[in-house]
Amino acid sequence: MKFFNKLLECIFLPSCGICEKLGEGYLCKKCGEKLEEYKLNLIEETTLKDFENIKIQKFYIMEYRDIIRKEILQYKFNGKAYLHKMFCEIIVKNKKTCEFLKNYDIIIPVPVHKSRKRWRGYNQSELIAKELAKRLGLKNDSNVLIKIKNNHIQSKLNKKERMKNVKNVYKVINKEKINNKNIIIFDDIYTTGATINECIKELKSANANKIGVLILAKD
Ligand SMILES: [Zn+2]
Repeated sequence: MKFFNKLLECIFLPSCGICEKLGEGYLCKKCGEKLEEYKLNLIEETTLKDFENIKIQKFYIMEYRDIIRKEILQYKFNGKAYLHKMFCEIIVKNKKTCEFLKNYDIIIPVPVHKSRKRWRGYNQSELIAKELAKRLGLKNDSNVLIKIKNNHIQSKLNKKERMKNVKNVYKVINKEKINNKNIIIFDDIYTTGATINECIKELKSANANKIGVLILAKD
C-alpha cells in the first residue's frame, strides 16, 4: 500500500504524512485539526549573557510529544525523508510563524557533520529549511554554517555536558554571505538550547545583523 501511494504521488497526488490519505496534500484536513492540540506558537526573547548580551527571539511551533514526537523520530531515524513536506506544510499553514519569518532574510538549518549526513542520507533540518525558503520566498543557505567536529549525540548528555560537547564544533564559511543579514536558524527539536546558542555565537562572530531561531518542536 505504501509503495502504491508513493507511486501515485509520483504520478499526480501527494499523500498525508500521517494517515497517508490521498488527495489533500501533504497533511490532510483531519490530521491538520488533530495537530492543533500540539501547537505552541511561543515566542521567547532571551539574552545571551556570556556573549555581547545579544537579544534573540526564539519561536517554538509545536510541543515535542505524542504524535509530533513519533513523526519527528520516524523522520529522523527511520529514513522517512519525504515527511519534510508535511512538516513544511504545518509551518506554512501557521500564520504566526509566517509573520515571524517576515523579519528575516536567510534561513539556515542547524548543520550536521558530513559523516552523519552520509549515514542518514540527509540533514533533517536542511530539507525542511529548503522547502520553507521555497514556499515563503526566503533565501536558504546550507553552506554558510558547517559542523566541523563529529561530536557525541546530544540526547544522551546532561545540560552541562551538552554545552561542553558543542563548544567550537560549528564554523561559518563564506562570511560575506551573512554580513549584516537578518538570519533565522532552523532546528527540528529544542531541548537545552546548547546547540542553537553555539550556532548563534558563530553567526554573530561573523557579523550577522539580527539572529532569530525557529524550532519545529520544543521538548
Ligand atoms: Zn491525514
